[in-house]
Amino acid sequence: MRMTREHWSAIQARLKEKVGDASFESWLAPLDLDAERATLQDVVVRVPTRFIRDWVIRHYNQAITDTVREVLGGEPTLNFTIAGTFTVPDVTHTPAAAKAPTPHAAEPTDAPSLTGGNMLNPHYTFDSFVTGKSNEFAYAAAKRIAESDDILYNPFLLYGGVGLGKTHLMHGIAWFIQKNYPQRRVLYISSEKFVFQFIRSLRDKKTIDFKETFRSVDVLMIDDIQFIAGKEATQEEFFHTLNALMDMRKQVVLTADRSPHEMDNVEDRLRSRLSSGLITEIHRPNLETRIAILERKAEERGITLPRDVALFLADRIASNVRELEGALNRLVAHTQLTRQSITLDNTQDLLKDIFQAYGRQVTLDQIQMKVAEHFHIKLQDMHSNRRTKDVARPRQVAMYLAKQLTSKSYPEIGKAFGGRDHTTVMHAVKTVDALRAKDPSIAEDLKLLEGLLTG
Ligand code: ADP
Ligand code: MG
Repeated sequence: MRMTREHWSAIQARLKEKVGDASFESWLAPLDLDAERATLQDVVVRVPTRFIRDWVIRHYNQAITDTVREVLGGEPTLNFTIAGTFTVPDVTHTPAAAKAPTPHAAEPTDAPSLTGGNMLNPHYTFDSFVTGKSNEFAYAAAKRIAESDDILYNPFLLYGGVGLGKTHLMHGIAWFIQKNYPQRRVLYISSEKFVFQFIRSLRDKKTIDFKETFRSVDVLMIDDIQFIAGKEATQEEFFHTLNALMDMRKQVVLTADRSPHEMDNVEDRLRSRLSSGLITEIHRPNLETRIAILERKAEERGITLPRDVALFLADRIASNVRELEGALNRLVAHTQLTRQSITLDNTQDLLKDIFQAYGRQVTLDQIQMKVAEHFHIKLQDMHSNRRTKDVARPRQVAMYLAKQLTSKSYPEIGKAFGGRDHTTVMHAVKTVDALRAKDPSIAEDLKLLEGLLTG
């Protein structure tokens, strides 16, 4: 039976109550019923852009599905079409995750071994990964692992800071294997989930099942293993799982936020096991790569980003690709809703709060003042030639903070400290860095000062 406009209005009205006026106006009001095609069993909804569709699926899929069921009864499926082209068949069974803006047809939940794992993000493929100096080695290694039908390196461990693309690359491996070696069972799981399931299996006395699940896969991927470190019983089980899989010549792929060498609370035998395969670091992308990533992400969202805006964003948000992408999402959402085009002006305005957090410019004067105050020395001692330890050390601390908290070069800093040579500043930075690692009282002073200066 056809679905009518009345049905749709009833659904919209209920949705508005559920999600609130603001969210409704921003995201759900633009949805429209495809009255030609929609039936009571098969609801077809038109969405103006791909970006809105993805957003809606990610954030409101459950609410929409529930509401459709409440109003229409039964278990209708829900489909979205973008400007008339039919996409995303049946997203009804994937609450909270965007399922099928299909770069690949494979659906993660098809493989039986995947129960217990996490969903793969359909956007995280090799194709959508932008490479540059910082990540080309990690990318090449991930690709080799995925392409090879033999075990080359085991385990493969990818590590690096937050938001640099570790999960993206890992999903890339999983998608690639699912597409090209569909018979291989791939299990992708976050460490939190691994720990949670392990604890639950202990509670329910089902540890055998737990072991079985993890040992019956061909490729095991565990994301963010630093969360396993420090949890003794889980670490033990994790170690045995690794051993078992590697003995059976099954591929293990892991990510972490630091190298095994830098992980505390990890037993030596686990550390050496982790180090026995290939360890690859993923670094912060440089400016050119950040610009390339932004342009790529903009293109995926169907917009063109003016060059000056891309440059501006990439310059200001340097440490983390996720935040760069977050800024872009805000920009895109805003301009789509207001139908404004993206310019440098409205970008600066719209993302003011982000830049304030990032670009809080601390001046050398402020640093010198705060440090002098903290160590009870005179401000002019920052510039003076006195070398007694009671003034030399605070001066070094101030130089160190100047390097950490401002974008000033060594010579510029030297100049601001009574015309000192840049090698003196370099030496100070090195000294304080080393002290920070071994002297807790200095570490505490620094933390406090950093808080005061940037807070
Ligand atoms: P991590 O797991 O290292 O914290 P993610 O893999 O979750 O980081 O990446 C954060 C976001 O940044 C994701 O949306 C991802 O698509 C994006 N990203 C990171 N690096 C790249 C890259 N080189 N090319 C394209 N997107 C990237
Ligand atoms: Mg991650």
